[in-house]
Amino acid sequence: MTNSVPTLTLNDGHTIPQLGFGVFKVDPDETTRIVTDALEVGYRHIDTAAIYGNEAGVGKALAESTIARDDLFITTKLWNDRQGTQSAFDAFEESLEKLGLDHVDLYLIHWPAPANGLYVESWKALEKIRESGRARSIGVSNFLVPHLEALIKDTEIVPAVNQIELHPAHQQLEVTRFAREHGINIEAWGPLGQGKYPLFDEQVVADAAEAHGKSAAQVVIRWHLQTGNILFPKSNRRERMAENFDVFDFELTHTQISMISALERAGRVSAHPNDVN
Ligand code: NAD
Repeated sequence: MTNSVPTLTLNDGHTIPQLGFGVFKVDPDETTRIVTDALEVGYRHIDTAAIYGNEAGVGKALAESTIARDDLFITTKLWNDRQGTQSAFDAFEESLEKLGLDHVDLYLIHWPAPANGLYVESWKALEKIRESGRARSIGVSNFLVPHLEALIKDTEIVPAVNQIELHPAHQQLEVTRFAREHGINIEAWGPLGQGKYPLFDEQVVADAAEAHGKSAAQVVIRWHLQTGNILFPKSNRRERMAENFDVFDFELTHTQISMISALERAGRVSAHPNDVN
């Protein structure tokens, strides 16, 4: 076991730090301070999105930091109302400009928005963006099996990742299995359940935390890391950022992993992907 963040290799050969920091619902005015804290704590992988309204704050923190660009991994996402071809190109340019970057490491379609019928066309635009080198990797988010099947059938590039709601109560086993069979890495959003259900009070989580002298959040983060998920838990508080990063000095046992996996109960805490358009 190493004391640093492991990297995973994506299906296009690029590597990604398995643990990062997400900025959903981070106030744009506070984003620079919060991302600066995260970088100082040690995070090198930042997950943002156009719809979060805080790409410029992320960009300012990156510009002010002395960390080499090649040591950072930056993800942003195409919002639903910009799906299409030219509109996706334009939205991507706007994101790059706000971030102050000449490339991102990963660009995602944020939701399939199936009622709009544009996600396959949008994916072809992302393929072109990847060809241009300005997004090293491309992927999707909130895609279910039928959406992934449509991309695989009608386009050239298999997504590098699918970023989906995933935590012990909602493991999305069908889409996760399909993705892994097709070489698509899983990124778990809401990895701590967004604080919307009492995950940390689950006895198996509390028992594992006590056994390892760690917090419940650290146990859940280890469960993700050991089950192969990429994740970027969010906190505005520096001490929690540090806590969530301090997870490389212990390992859950197979039994602890299985008992936490047994918490599955189809407990989605956010919207169904077919309903976000
Ligand atoms: P999360 O599961 O990371 O939960 C965040 C909340 O957990 C925080 O607000 C905080 O209250 C609590 N928390 C964090 N660390 C804690 C700790 N150590 N102890 C106790 N409580 C703690 O939820 P999230 O922020 O929604 O998800 C993580 C990231 O995933 C986001 O910031 C964003 O980057 C991404 N995301 C993507 C989508 C998508 O549609 N693609 C949707 C939601 C989130």
